[in-house]
Amino acid sequence: MPASAPLSLSQKFKLPNGLEYEQPLGLFINGEFVPGKERKTFEVVNPTTGKVVGEVHEATAADVDIAVDAAEAAFYDGSWSRMSSGERGHLLLKLADLLEENMTTLASIESFDNGKVFQQAKGDVYSCMGFLRYYGGWADKIHGKVIETSPGSFNFTKQEPIGVCGMIIPWNFPLLNCLIKIAPAIACGNTLVLKTADRTPLSALYAARLCQEAGFPPGVINILSGFGKTAGAAIASHMKIQKVSFTGSTVVGRQIMKAAAESNLKKISLELGGKSPHIICKDADIGRAVEWVNAGIFYNSGQCCSAGSRIYVQASIYDKVVEAFKKRAQAIVLGNPFDEASSQGPQVSEAQYNRVMSYIELGKSEGARLEIGGERHGSEGYFIKPTVFSNVTEDMRIMQEEIFGPVCAISKFKDVEDAIGKGNATKYGLASAVHTRSLNTAMEFSNKLRAGSVWINCYNAFNPALPFGGYGESGFGRELGKASLDDYTQTKTVSINLS
Ligand code: ADP
Repeated sequence: MPASAPLSLSQKFKLPNGLEYEQPLGLFINGEFVPGKERKTFEVVNPTTGKVVGEVHEATAADVDIAVDAAEAAFYDGSWSRMSSGERGHLLLKLADLLEENMTTLASIESFDNGKVFQQAKGDVYSCMGFLRYYGGWADKIHGKVIETSPGSFNFTKQEPIGVCGMIIPWNFPLLNCLIKIAPAIACGNTLVLKTADRTPLSALYAARLCQEAGFPPGVINILSGFGKTAGAAIASHMKIQKVSFTGSTVVGRQIMKAAAESNLKKISLELGGKSPHIICKDADIGRAVEWVNAGIFYNSGQCCSAGSRIYVQASIYDKVVEAFKKRAQAIVLGNPFDEASSQGPQVSEAQYNRVMSYIELGKSEGARLEIGGERHGSEGYFIKPTVFSNVTEDMRIMQEEIFGPVCAISKFKDVEDAIGKGNATKYGLASAVHTRSLNTAMEFSNKLRAGSVWINCYNAFNPALPFGGYGESGFGRELGKASLDDYTQTKTVSINLS
């Protein structure tokens, strides 16, 4: 938009489910909503219709500087540094209560902006409440150790916050990705500047208003809408940001790492792409396994870093599983995310739609068999029918590359050894799953699959207490669980000479 375009800091929105609410549009810096320094704005598109629904203010590098200064001041000088850990926890619990009170509004915004079906959007808000309550409980239980060395010295460690944390998140779970990072960072006593994905800025801005209401001191939480190449890059290379937590593609993850290395060697954690294997052994409960396989790939329109996109079925049950899976996938109802009958919404944007469709064309040209789907649904918005390719070989790009849409590749395996070999034949290592009734087989897979999560007889078994993160090119660092606290603290060792 032209630099002179006037845009208010909030606006009444009416959503397709009839909900009316006041949508914040500004950048959330130092406890208030403000316009960007360069007075830029950008458009927000509803993926269900492809139509522009409004605009938000855009952060550039100058706004990142202002937000970082506010976060740094809050970290060192403000009421934040004097606040007890218990009070920090209390703020997180209060924010969880506010999310609960605003559940319908937040879930509606998420469905509207991202296109995910309303029930799944509600599930995301529940998850966020869980993160806030889990880390709210941790806030006053983060402590160091006394370490005995010799009678003449007294040594102890402290787990200190790192400082100003930068956070860069993607569009597939806009609110969830926001709070999965904010909750542990705040529990540990950090302050933060978070940039949302340009395609989905709305729910985080609404959550920013709830942070205001919860009573977080100004500057502790700053939330910016903006683009990766400008605001995102400014965060990654900022000299006063001490840590960056990034979720997104492996390509951008590399750029973040490079920017950190070339600036102030800030600590980084990267939650990146995946091409996760979903393995069904011949002794599995086939009906249940097919349900998990279906959810594992098609949940959130296939836009999950953990998506089980490579499906390996033991040869003797292959035909039966392919038939059952096709039937299950064809029962998915595509439609308006607010319609109760819908179980799959659109892809998030035209660019994603085109990307996924080009992979479908690639799959066909590589010689895989298109079992179902492979085409657009409806005439408006970015809907793609659940797509299943069979007879996919390991060398095909649709077996190796992350598609990030409702597209999966099925192939056969001979025995456990073969399945482990195929499961591990990827540069990624985010998640994996195995269906079997044998405890020994389950344990063998869980020992040998090289992935941050191994789900046995289930999929996407997320819980605030369970660490999640990647092996290999799926990144490093862990979200959730106690492990995430390690990513947001640093250890200080104090030694006192008593002799
Ligand atoms: P996707 O392609 O799925 O959007 P990306 O990895 O491109 O995933 O984006 C994830 C997040 O990273 C978004 O918030 C995006 O704006 C941001 N981003 C993109 N490029 C950069 C960059 N060069 N530096 C920092 N952040 C970036």
